[in-house]
Amino acid sequence: MSQKRQMALFVGHGDPMMALRDDEVAHGLRAVGERILADKPLAILAVSAHWYAPGTLVQSDPAPRQVNDMYGFPAELYAIQYHPAGHAGLTARVQELLGDAVAVDDTWGIDHGVWTPLHHMLPEANIPVVELSVNQLADAQYAYDLGKKLAPLRDEGFVVLGSGNVVHNLREVEWDNPQGTPANEAFDAAVRGAVEAREDEKLVDYAALPHADYAVPTPEHYLPLLTVLGASQGEKPEVFNDIRNLGSISMTSYLFA
Ligand code: ZN
Repeated sequence: MSQKRQMALFVGHGDPMMALRDDEVAHGLRAVGERILADKPLAILAVSAHWYAPGTLVQSDPAPRQVNDMYGFPAELYAIQYHPAGHAGLTARVQELLGDAVAVDDTWGIDHGVWTPLHHMLPEANIPVVELSVNQLADAQYAYDLGKKLAPLRDEGFVVLGSGNVVHNLREVEWDNPQGTPANEAFDAAVRGAVEAREDEKLVDYAALPHADYAVPTPEHYLPLLTVLGASQGEKPEVFNDIRNLGSISMTSYLFA
């Protein structure tokens, strides 16, 4: 078993075409991926915005399928193959740590919220991945407390990864806007300030932050951040991919090492 404490990190994944781009976001992800590989983790527990399920569910499949849960994109995007192994030991530890609060479920797989960033971070898919759902029946405090319960995994060789977006409003997307709107900038800056100051309670109570209705119209892309914060209490973040685009998307990402 690996001895080094592994990272907790929240990654902004943006639109699925990010998997094909060789841009600043991709470079940021690659640099973090190299650090993950250097730490030699046993596996990654990946909390995905795109597994928004009526319960806290964890995968156990030794060879989870790739789920291309995005529609209307070019064939070259669907041609990307990303097939990490699962990890029975990680699934078992999640069950031990969460008890009756979690159920094993292999009806899903490795969705685009996880494989599009990992395609850049770990292109060889040589670190096992176990996905954990975002519980649509639970609130923000639950997502944060879940991270607290999962924090011991980091001392057992497992990375805790959350994939979502701090600001994610598909109805307000401006496809020709390479930057963020003022409301996007304001919410993202408020979150960044609170993460840097470790004012976690403000982040759990995100609805009170400026432009929260615009930034978080539905919670599934924001909640993985809270789980990562719960798994990294008191630790200072490294901010990467501090980028906003398409008007209403933030790529801002946080790493705790
Ligand atoms: Zn998404």
